[in-house]
Amino acid sequence: MALIVQKYGGTSVADLDRIRNVARRVVKTFEQGNQVVVILSAMAGVTDRLIEMANNMSKNPDRRELDVLLATGEQTTAALLAMWLKSQGHPSKSLLGFQAEVKTDCAYGNARIMDVGAGQIKKLLEDNNIVVVAGFQGCDADGNITTLGRGGSDTSAVAIAAALRADRCEIYTDVDGIYTADPNVCASARKLDRISCEEMLEMASLGAKVLHLRSVEFALKHHVPVWVRSSFNEEEGTMLVNGEHDMEREVVSSVTYNKNEARITLKKVPDQPGIAAKIFGPISDSGINVDMIIQNTRAGGQTDLTFTVPKTEYARALEIERKVAEQIGAEAVYGDENIAKVSVIGVGMKSHSGVAAKMFSTLAAENINIIMISTSEIRISCVVEQKQAELAVRALHTAFGLDKEK
Ligand code: ADP
Ligand code: ASP
Ligand code: MG
Repeated sequence: MALIVQKYGGTSVADLDRIRNVARRVVKTFEQGNQVVVILSAMAGVTDRLIEMANNMSKNPDRRELDVLLATGEQTTAALLAMWLKSQGHPSKSLLGFQAEVKTDCAYGNARIMDVGAGQIKKLLEDNNIVVVAGFQGCDADGNITTLGRGGSDTSAVAIAAALRADRCEIYTDVDGIYTADPNVCASARKLDRISCEEMLEMASLGAKVLHLRSVEFALKHHVPVWVRSSFNEEEGTMLVNGEHDMEREVVSSVTYNKNEARITLKKVPDQPGIAAKIFGPISDSGINVDMIIQNTRAGGQTDLTFTVPKTEYARALEIERKVAEQIGAEAVYGDENIAKVSVIGVGMKSHSGVAAKMFSTLAAENINIIMISTSEIRISCVVEQKQAELAVRALHTAFGLDKEK
């Protein structure tokens, strides 16, 4: 008997028929003699609709109440699945995040899981229940409901699997596994049988939303065996593997894009010690993550400084920087939401040169202007105009020899 955690994403529970389809898969695993814990997302589109409603109610919805609202999406699907299972004679119980003892910090909207108690889940499993847990939510030390950030149900699943020391955590989604690029954008993307946690971390942090970044961090830290599979077929999917292994060693192994960032530029900033701290201090105090930063050197003791933030924080960051600009005497502050970051990733890049040059010439050949560049040991990212993101992904995928054979 194995203990299996299965997570089903929004498309897999998009309507009642699909929830019944999920239930049949769950029952099959259960009837094979396994213990099963199911983690669910909200129905596809529901979280977006809840956010829309909140924005309609208030220009700046209270973050605590927003989390109370958003958590209802997952509460609905968890109850519906458990209800159907019971109606078919299978002992089952649904649990909300706090009942499953998913303890988080108090960062509403982007809370981190600190600990998972899982006592209640274990007890229900011992009593032979199929346990259904609402994903994406937890509870802080004061008992407030928190949510884990968009796509956070993956993290709920892997964290609960870690706490239960589950034999495997299966992430069921609407694609067959992890591909060399988003298969919905790049038809020639290839499915990977295995991927290293290191590369998956990089992909997730650069926008491949197939797995929530923190779920990969949990898998790596707690050695949780994770499979990404489709809930619509029986394909094997992709296995996450820890550390160095025998996977393909292409220089570039995947291409990702991220349309969820925005750019802010401060023009003619005094070129003096302490200025960067004044620009980024208030941003960090507001809990906003800055990603890329570029500073130009200019004549006359002035410089332009550009950085990117998550689009959801764009308005807040812009407001903060307008005040900063006044204090430090910068000439202007402006921004752009219509950008995308396109990245090529590969551990093989560590020992190869020429990847950046090839990336730039490939984008140039497609007439794509590069707005910002950043690099690490195993990836190169370029910010481009948002409308050119898909074209850039396809061109780079072909240029780096990743296309599947026709
Ligand atoms: P779920 O609702 O099941 O959590 P998501 O929409 O969050 O599903 O994630 C699955 C989506 O991730 C796919 O539909 C695909 O468009 C996208 N995606 C982006 N990059 C990749 C990739 N490299 N491999 C597979 N899917 C990817
Ligand atoms: N329902 C949440 C979202 O849409 C969490 C998830 O699906 O993982 O972001
Ligand atoms: Mg997801």
